[in-house]
Amino acid sequence: MIELTTIIDGKALASDVEVDARERAKKLAKRGIVPGLATVLVGENPASQMYIRLKHSACSRVGIRSENVVLPPESTEIDLIARIQELNSRSDINGILLQLPLPRGLSPQRAMMTIRPEKDVDGFHPQNMGALLLGVELLVPCTPLGIIYALERLGKKLEGAEVVIVGHSNVVGKPLAAMMLNRNATVQVCHVFTGDLARHTRDAEILVVAAGVPGLIKKEMVKSGAYVFDVGINRVGDKTVGDVDFDKVSEVAAAITPVPGGVGPLTVAMLLRQTLQATENQNQNNPTD
Ligand code: NAD
Repeated sequence: MIELTTIIDGKALASDVEVDARERAKKLAKRGIVPGLATVLVGENPASQMYIRLKHSACSRVGIRSENVVLPPESTEIDLIARIQELNSRSDINGILLQLPLPRGLSPQRAMMTIRPEKDVDGFHPQNMGALLLGVELLVPCTPLGIIYALERLGKKLEGAEVVIVGHSNVVGKPLAAMMLNRNATVQVCHVFTGDLARHTRDAEILVVAAGVPGLIKKEMVKSGAYVFDVGINRVGDKTVGDVDFDKVSEVAAAITPVPGGVGPLTVAMLLRQTLQATENQNQNNPTD
């Protein structure tokens, strides 16, 4: 019997998340609450500008009010922190997202630490990251959350699953490893210093690749029946490609995300969920309940 590979349609999954998000926003609106998200962009990086546009248009589709704070590329850390503090103090802003990367000379860690943890919709504040490591998932990074969401929707059991993550960034690899451990998966995390990458990736029942290296993962590095999530976003000529050789790996994987249209839309959808979560948490004791 020929097993068909599932192409994980991130756009379709994201649109389901949006249906739910719209309902949650409506419930809040009935209580007179309009969820508010502020994005902060420093400089004029075209890719960052594009991601910001995608995030704002998703917000407008579900009833989240959003605004974009743009700082000039020459901004100092003092300027950036002052703007974040201003957003922290505003009651109409429930979530704050600092778009990365920052221009050279600005520390993302220090800026992230300024965001009030309850408004940290990207889950990068040390308090939220620390809680995640302790098994308490308050606000968590959106890309790993999107991957977990897709696996749940696919009905893939995580308890006892062999998970291999390629890439150990603070944004994807490390928080995803913690989320997988919280669900009792067995996790290996590989990175640029891993000696024999294929030896690890071949173990994976669930393989997540977030390296930013086009074509890094080839068919012979993937176990038959694996669930493959390609997080990478790379420009090659006029095309956007991931880190996985999609056509060949599709021949052995049970399920695989395309690039574009896989993990990217899920990441944006999870930002909506996190903004609603933050808004609901901040209004738990609202007298209009
Ligand atoms: P990063 O760019 O900060 O770091 C790259 C990671 O990959 C490091 O851990 C590094 O050690 C590892 N790596 C690099 N080359 C490798 C190699 N040859 N073999 C094994 N490991 C290697 O990581 P990031 O910020 O998580 O971004 C990774 C990729 O994912 C980028 O292409 C980025 O654009 C993309 N990304 C996509 C989304 C999305 O929503 N789809 C979200 C975040 C990041």
